[in-house]
Amino acid sequence: MNLCSEVKQLAKSLSLSCLSQNTEQALSLNLNRTNEDFLLEILKSEISFREEKSRERRFKQAFLPVVKTLDEFDLTAPLGIDKRQIDTLAKLTWIDSVHNLIFLGPPGIGKTHLALALANHALNAGYKAFFTSMDRLAHFMRTAEISKNSRVRLAYLRTCNLVVIDELGYLPLSRIDANAFFQLISQLHDSASVIITSNKGFDEWPAVFGDAAIVTAMLDRLMQRCEIVSLSGKSYRISHRSTVFG
Ligand code: ADP
Ligand code: MG
Repeated sequence: MNLCSEVKQLAKSLSLSCLSQNTEQALSLNLNRTNEDFLLEILKSEISFREEKSRERRFKQAFLPVVKTLDEFDLTAPLGIDKRQIDTLAKLTWIDSVHNLIFLGPPGIGKTHLALALANHALNAGYKAFFTSMDRLAHFMRTAEISKNSRVRLAYLRTCNLVVIDELGYLPLSRIDANAFFQLISQLHDSASVIITSNKGFDEWPAVFGDAAIVTAMLDRLMQRCEIVSLSGKSYRISHRSTVFG
């Protein structure tokens, strides 16, 4: 076996994926380098390769329906959130201190955009995040006993630093779904930051959950470390709609 194949095989058995996939290039790297530089280069490439793979995996498992960024978020119209607050959220220290965010407001105002952009930002910074609509989450919880996919998603969600629950309140929840959701929020209380977006004010949540006591208990947990952002103004979706006739 020649040197290159031997290095490739050894790299493979040590799970050094970057080196095993790029052995030829790696070996040609040391032409004008000291051994120290060469070794450093190999180790650095392995680390950045692993980080990139892990980032790709985290993005795949996060299920963001579309990529949105904080930079794209237009703050020219008054909205109920300003640049300073966005910059503070972008530091992501609220995830380290397990704070929750609740974005309230009418449709089209940017609640989902902000939640997606923060999840995107957190994923890029190395956090584990999961995005789901309330509807889809209820489906996962309802079918966990019979569906492996639902069990896997819920198990992953429980390992995340950030869980985004979008569109709470669009559809009312059954008693069973409401209970399961309350249990989940209680379980996530100390382990994950939760972002909830809703078009319903808190006073309307009892109707969504069909039970005022559950809402009180749930908000009690969520509010312990929480920032509530009430967005208001004109729907961005409508004011920036594209038209056929121009
Ligand atoms: P909501 O969740 O409040 O109903 P979305 O976040 O889905 O609203 O916003 C609707 C559309 O308008 C999305 O495509 C979103 O990217 C865009 N949008 C909303 N607000 C803004 C904003 N302030 N700046 C840039 N795009 C925005
Ligand atoms: Mg939305």
